[in-house]
Amino acid sequence: MSFKIINGWLQNVKHVISPFYNERPIDKPISLLVIHNISLPPNQYGGPYVEQLFTGQLDPKKHPYFATIYQLQVSSHLFIRRNGEIIQFVPFDKRAWHAGQSQFKGQENCNDFSIGIELEGCDSEDFTEQQYQQLATVTVLLQQSYSIVDIVGHNDIAPERKTDPGPYFNWQYYLNLISEKRQTVLTINQLNQIEDEMQKRMLWQTTPPKADAFLSQEPFAIDTMEALEWLQWIFIPRMRALIDAKTNLPQGFALHPYFEEALKEQDEVSQLLLLIKQLDDLSSPTK
Ligand SMILES: [Zn+2]
Repeated sequence: MSFKIINGWLQNVKHVISPFYNERPIDKPISLLVIHNISLPPNQYGGPYVEQLFTGQLDPKKHPYFATIYQLQVSSHLFIRRNGEIIQFVPFDKRAWHAGQSQFKGQENCNDFSIGIELEGCDSEDFTEQQYQQLATVTVLLQQSYSIVDIVGHNDIAPERKTDPGPYFNWQYYLNLISEKRQTVLTINQLNQIEDEMQKRMLWQTTPPKADAFLSQEPFAIDTMEALEWLQWIFIPRMRALIDAKTNLPQGFALHPYFEEALKEQDEVSQLLLLIKQLDDLSSPTK
């Protein structure tokens, strides 16, 4: 996963296109995340059968249970395996068929306005740490990209029919992880966007400044580097290194005033300045 969603697709995960989706109603923006569990055959992990079910290719002869479900037209946006591998079947902006008949806060047909995530699992066993980590990271990205208001289990929106994600899904742990990861995930996402924007505007250099430019003791290496050089060669790598080392990120910094001044003569930097401002804001999460 590269912490990026492009055209509804999470980048750097496996994409397997399901035929089981359609358009969302235009008057129902995405507002809900639905957590499920699935394993095929039930309580068995690791096989190709969930992918086959979600793509209409499950062989009814492979297992007695499959004969009862192989004609279902079902899918989900994401499937997270026991080892944390993520597979995406439907772009988030399309309507995957995961919830079935359902109701949330008086609205029927939750597929219209929800994103569905299936965890490989069952109602009688713990989920894995890798699954919680991936799920929480993806949740933060989805909350950032779409206006998700609520997160529920399938059992919450179809209580008469469904029990998943089941009593072994640890909601408290999941919700805590989301808030723990939020700043880091959004910061990575923001750094990626800044890098993309600089590349798009041909402001991303291919060769670094001379070695002694890095020895500057001044803020922003203002005596040896241009503002964007400092951003590319010092600030962004330093932030990524802190994130990789799982160290606390600097809090409450303010890059925007310096960049606004330094780039005032430069064309087409308004988007970049906006992204830098958002990065500043992320560093003061309680503001
Ligand atoms: Zn379900």
